[in-house]
Amino acid sequence: MEIIIAKNSGLCYGVKRALKIARQTRLQKNDQVFTLGDLIHNPQVITDLKKLGIHSVDNMNAIKVGTVIIRSHGVSPEIYRMLEKKQIEIVDATCPIVKKIQKLVASLAEEEEEIIIVGNKEHPEIKGLIGFSKGKGTILENEKQVRNLPLKKRRVILAQSTQDLYLFEKVVASLIEKTEELKVYNTICHSTQTRQKSTSKLASSVDTLFIVGGKNSSNTFKLYQISKRILPNTFFIEIVEQITPRMLKGAKKIGLSGGASTPPEAVKEAVKKIKTSFAHQFQRENIVQCQR
Ligand code: SF4
Repeated sequence: MEIIIAKNSGLCYGVKRALKIARQTRLQKNDQVFTLGDLIHNPQVITDLKKLGIHSVDNMNAIKVGTVIIRSHGVSPEIYRMLEKKQIEIVDATCPIVKKIQKLVASLAEEEEEIIIVGNKEHPEIKGLIGFSKGKGTILENEKQVRNLPLKKRRVILAQSTQDLYLFEKVVASLIEKTEELKVYNTICHSTQTRQKSTSKLASSVDTLFIVGGKNSSNTFKLYQISKRILPNTFFIEIVEQITPRMLKGAKKIGLSGGASTPPEAVKEAVKKIKTSFAHQFQRENIVQCQR
């Protein structure tokens, strides 16, 4: 058995930075510290943060006093205003790359009539970006939705930072047919693109591939979709207990990859589970870090 871990997988710069800011904030503040939504899509890390006294809340009304950490996905201008009105201290851990996209959307909103954003409408980053678009943003989740748009002289299009590049290209290709002048901004972050490429290459060279990460992590789910297109034997696992002998049946080369919010420990745990539980199925074991 050979186990290969994708070279570019696991926590991205923006999530690592947000975690560091949250821990530093906890040390500096004496009152309550909250995050608006989970800082990272990993139940274990959220439990650890809670033990430190960093509480994740979905509803702002639950916060009366203290400090709120804005997570890497960012929020809309409306949320900043509401927090300021409540006199809640804000520690902004929005990823600088997301901040740049927010500024781009805000400046496009000054001069363009319609801004197309390719992303998941329920994703917090998209909700934040829409807030910066001053009512000019339209969210598209796939190329089929382009059919519902009218012909137009001019449009601009950009993407959620964690968007699947292949899907973005498909939406752009469809939109060209509906727009005379289309300005394209590829706002998919470098970290996302390298993760997607590493996972695609790994999927082409193994028998079975596990994508490890939280079910509600959009970028991890995209890695799953990318790998599944190449390798039907791709599985999305949140906890190691989900790995079954059936998934590994006949596999000689097993790949593992994790999204931008998957801690390295989660991937290591999956490797351990495969080794200890299923080693008897194989004669030879080898674990390597993929060099692609
Ligand atoms: S995926 Fe990219 S843009 Fe999003 S938080 Fe990570 S580094 Fe920032």
